[in-house]
Amino acid sequence: MTRNDIADGLRQLGLDRTSEVIVHSSLSSFGYVDGGAEAVCAALTEVCGTVLMPAGSWDLTGTPAPPGLVRPRNAFWNAETWPEFDEKLSQATSFRPDLPVDKWLGTIPETFRRTCSPARTGHPLFSYQAAGPAAERILGAQRPDWPLGPIEALDGDVLLIGVSHTSNTTIHLAEQHLGRSRFYRYAKSADGLWVEYLNIPGDSHLFDDIEPALRPYTKEVQIGQARVRRIPKQAVLSTTCQLIEADPAALLCTDDPSCRCAAALEQRLLS
Ligand SMILES: [Zn+2]
Repeated sequence: MTRNDIADGLRQLGLDRTSEVIVHSSLSSFGYVDGGAEAVCAALTEVCGTVLMPAGSWDLTGTPAPPGLVRPRNAFWNAETWPEFDEKLSQATSFRPDLPVDKWLGTIPETFRRTCSPARTGHPLFSYQAAGPAAERILGAQRPDWPLGPIEALDGDVLLIGVSHTSNTTIHLAEQHLGRSRFYRYAKSADGLWVEYLNIPGDSHLFDDIEPALRPYTKEVQIGQARVRRIPKQAVLSTTCQLIEADPAALLCTDDPSCRCAAALEQRLLS
């Protein structure tokens, strides 16, 4: 696969310079790519107008909850003692715009950050990055208490590159609109200081169950070995809302009490 092959595939999906996309991606899904993640990022910014990607860094900035701070229905863990908490806090890093993107999000977001000069928001746990004419508007919609604001502001599509809907954060936004999947989490803000953040989303391991309902809205191409799908953001939001309104446990597991799904369901039932 080359940059041109990837750009051609994206154009087959109808993407062009007017498109705004949020990209969730797996580099290895393509098979071999000449130029690696850089070639993928170059193809995306060449074809699309504005490219939004996650840039979270919770692996570096996150801490456990402090001892005794137990929010209801929060499915999180506390440090058992203050010395343990202080140690975790000292091991964490406070957010800086040049922190690497969490590896869990894949190679492409970190390469995008390093090679495409995107703007980046300052949320210590859940930052976003974007390049293109709408970047400022989209990123400006994030607030410390509303991390998924950029997805709300995006006027365009979800692009899944070799990943399933388990990576589709727009589903979490619809959940949060309905009072579900709103968690409190903790991050280091400066040496010796920590902050509680709210509306951090929860688990997504069953989100692929949404696929049949989204099929009428989904455009799909194969690029190399990668299955690449484009779904209008609005269709993801409205379909998720319909599923949850019909069944509060939609897209959640109900058999694993250790999972965040159970707490998310309780949040919805009480909302
Ligand atoms: Zn679950």
